Amino acid sequence: VPELPEVETIRRDLEREVAGLTIERVDATGVRTLRRTGAFEPFVREVEGYRLTVADRRGKYLLLRLETGRVVVVHLGMSGQLLYAAPGTPLGPHTHVVWHFGGGPELRFVDPRTFGEVFVSTPSQPGGVPDELAHLGADPFDATLTPATLATGLAGRRTKLKPLLLDQRFVAGIGNMYADEILWAARLGPDRPAAGTSRREASRLHGAIRETLTAAVAHRGSSLADEQYRDLYGEVGRYQARHNAYGREGRPCPRCGSPIRRLKAYGRSTFFCPRCQR
Ligand SMILES: [Zn+2]
Repeated sequence: VPELPEVETIRRDLEREVAGLTIERVDATGVRTLRRTGAFEPFVREVEGYRLTVADRRGKYLLLRLETGRVVVVHLGMSGQLLYAAPGTPLGPHTHVVWHFGGGPELRFVDPRTFGEVFVSTPSQPGGVPDELAHLGADPFDATLTPATLATGLAGRRTKLKPLLLDQRFVAGIGNMYADEILWAARLGPDRPAAGTSRREASRLHGAIRETLTAAVAHRGSSLADEQYRDLYGEVGRYQARHNAYGREGRPCPRCGSPIRRLKAYGRSTFFCPRCQR
């Protein structure tokens, strides 16, 4: 499941490859993918013929800004991929939207499980976040997320640290895999009550969020055994080789040597070191 580092990797690729290009034509065929728009025709009309100015991101959402002020919002869901393809390359199965950039490359949205979606929105503030995403909390790289604001946010919460990190209204972009890596880096147990976090621990958690996500972006995200996550060029990420806790049940903790433990709750697995994460 793509999380912030995977989406940010794709954003940077999009910024390099398609920002500044005019969308000459759009082929939209995915009914589920365009469920928020409800019909192809209005979607196509909003997009065709306009220049894509900037590739932005908010949490796990990609924001492709158009010269009209409209924004094409892309969420990859469980299995979505945005792929850059030479024109004429045969379309793979589950291709739901294709953006054509005048004889040059094509951008293709491929999504076998169709949990992802694409829609057009108009932010009430130019360059702002679309209203549909107003519920999202701070992006981990926003300047507004500081050790102090994080400490304040944690203080009032009855929930535990891991579910809070997964709550997109609290902080946007972290999913199951990076929550485990972040808590390992911060040496904090996933079941710790958020409200019991000291200032010092909140500061450590803040550092772990930034450092873990930055390192994961530097290694172009994580592709797990299913290799579902691909970057714009169809390549897998490299950060999975650097995971310290996630997916490492029974293997020694890289910090203290104790076996990493796996807990199952709410249909998800949590991996952590019972010795050095408190
Ligand atoms: Zn350990």
